[in-house]
Amino acid sequence: MRISMVSEHGSPLATLGGVDAGGQNVHVAALSAALAARGHDVTVFTRRDDPHLPERMPLCPGVEVVHVSAGPASAIPKDDLLPYMPAFADRLADAWRADAPDLVHSHFWMSGVAALDAARRPDTPDVPVAHTFHALGVVKRRHQGLDDTSPVDRAALEPAVGRGADTVVATCSDEAFELIRLGVPSSRISVVPCGVDTDLFHPEGSTETKTRAHRIMTIGRLVPRKGVGTVITALARLARDDIELVVVGGSRGAEQVADDPDVQRLAALARDEGVAHLVSFRGQVSRTELPAVVRSADLVVCAPWYEPFGIVPLEAMATGVPVVATAVGGLIDTVVHGTTGVHVPPRDADAIATAVTALLADPGGLAKLGRAGAARGCAAGTRGTGWPPTPSACTGGCCRAGGSSCARRAGR
Ligand code: UDP
Repeated sequence: MRISMVSEHGSPLATLGGVDAGGQNVHVAALSAALAARGHDVTVFTRRDDPHLPERMPLCPGVEVVHVSAGPASAIPKDDLLPYMPAFADRLADAWRADAPDLVHSHFWMSGVAALDAARRPDTPDVPVAHTFHALGVVKRRHQGLDDTSPVDRAALEPAVGRGADTVVATCSDEAFELIRLGVPSSRISVVPCGVDTDLFHPEGSTETKTRAHRIMTIGRLVPRKGVGTVITALARLARDDIELVVVGGSRGAEQVADDPDVQRLAALARDEGVAHLVSFRGQVSRTELPAVVRSADLVVCAPWYEPFGIVPLEAMATGVPVVATAVGGLIDTVVHGTTGVHVPPRDADAIATAVTALLADPGGLAKLGRAGAARGCAAGTRGTGWPPTPSACTGGCCRAGGSSCARRAGR
């Protein structure tokens, strides 16, 4: 098929870790690559945010990224992009009139607005539209209240996208129920979790050296709702000098990490909590460097207030590292409590400290969780086979978990 991906702010070519660049970018890139590997032609339409970008750029064989001119060719926060969606839709309609795709898959509500606008015009070809939200405004508003900077129109436009798309791909079961509450018919909702690149994330390979006996880690954007502050407070509650916290992500690379306002906010908290000497901020870490950093952790802690999916826990598990995760959103589906990690309540530093203490006190148990995580990560793997895994797709050794503990082989 000829597939048009629409990802207005989530370019698959973006540097990850900044405020508006994370899981959506990873997912669009990996999904497009996996579809191309199955013989489909994929074009990803994303907004031009830099005047020097070429109009078309290859991502990998079979996938091309098109930079769409809509609004100023500069970085604009995603919550300010709605006024440019009519122009974005015009460019999509032009492209689809010239060269009709068989399928459109839009990502994030604003891409859905533009894609449905373009696809439903009388003079554009009749193309089915699949939509993935990646995040829901109604959930964001519930947790962030007045701090939510989404445009007010999101409240009406987002459900309209859900109702207007031919199919909605939810990434976790929690999201499916939110969508039904928004009026999206359940018959048009499928739950398809994001995958993880197990060619990149696996237990074997180089490992960074720790600077303390134990290392816990957070990975991702440093926006408050990701809960990195709660993890810093938990580190203080541990009151131990043998555990370091490595914080990966943010809007800057390693050299400029101190200039990142979110790093400054979190570093101030670490100083107030008396644990600044135990916390290191890495800034953005590239995809290829990340696995060695993840392998060095005894535990990855994912403490968001809410989480539409959360690819990081899958990456940690695939790498063989147990996860302490808040029991929210996609983390309920991905992390198996007592098997690949531990669930804790959101915004609860004491619960994280208790879980970390118990897990680090039992090296045998920790290793067992890591092995089970690698097997589960393998099951979510996207080594050209995608999700869901099928027993016949198991090549053996794909997760390095070995034999019967391989979830894909066991068909779990
Ligand atoms: N990431 C990365 N380098 C960084 C920070 C984040 O590669 O410095 C990646 C991370 O490994 C994951 C993605 O960004 O693949 C974040 O996705 P997730 O779904 O966990 O969170 P989101 O950003 O979608 O809220």
